Amino acid sequence: MANGDEHGVTHDLLSLLSSADRNFLLRNNGDQVNNNYYFCIQIPVADLVGKNILLYFSAHWCPPCRAFLPTLVEAYHEIKAKDDAFEVIFISSDRDQDSFDEFFATMPWLALPFGDSRKAFLSRKFKVQGIPMLVAIGPTGQTVTREARNHIMAHGAKAYPFTEEHLEAESEEMAKGWPEKLKSALHEKHELVLSKRTVFVCDGCRKPGALWSFCCKECDFDLHPKCAFEGDKKTENDGKQEGEESKEG
Ligand SMILES: [Zn+2]
Ligand SMILES: [Zn+2]
Repeated sequence: MANGDEHGVTHDLLSLLSSADRNFLLRNNGDQVNNNYYFCIQIPVADLVGKNILLYFSAHWCPPCRAFLPTLVEAYHEIKAKDDAFEVIFISSDRDQDSFDEFFATMPWLALPFGDSRKAFLSRKFKVQGIPMLVAIGPTGQTVTREARNHIMAHGAKAYPFTEEHLEAESEEMAKGWPEKLKSALHEKHELVLSKRTVFVCDGCRKPGALWSFCCKECDFDLHPKCAFEGDKKTENDGKQEGEESKEG
């Protein structure tokens, strides 16, 4: 791609996810034996053709990956309950088989086998620089977005199927009834304006946010809408690292 943009590019899922000597992915069947030893089922890559896919680039050693996992698991079950033509595939940057096994054992979806040659190819193809990263691929094999993680953080399961049109409508729906501007005790100098931001760190609770912020551009001050509505009520900070990322490698 001349401009380096993968958006809208169509892939042949079979050639993307299989290799010369492997035409399957793994599913952890939840049958745990002796702590971290478990059996995997082989799922043909062909079963995924025509589905909405999320490629989940992640690793057990990466704290932001572990922090994001429960959010993704929750969204996964919710989406899956509504549309079975959906799947997540774990693409591991783990450093050894044991860490892969331990991490994958907590995931209800599929994985590329540990150490598979396709991993480096996929990381390059989708320009994965930091993890966790979620790439959404649509039913005809097109790249829908490389920002699916932000969309899940902003909308949860409602982000599905991650298309621009759908997310736009969801954003508007979410902001219905919110004021365009407000005053907050957390930033008495200026009015805060409801603004769309890709990602930000909330100056109220210090946690990351995505999508809507009550924002003072002049001071680079952001509040989650929730934190802005709560005013100066103290919000707890449990040190979650959901919005951060680790260097791939
Ligand atoms: Zn906040
Ligand atoms: Zn200000």
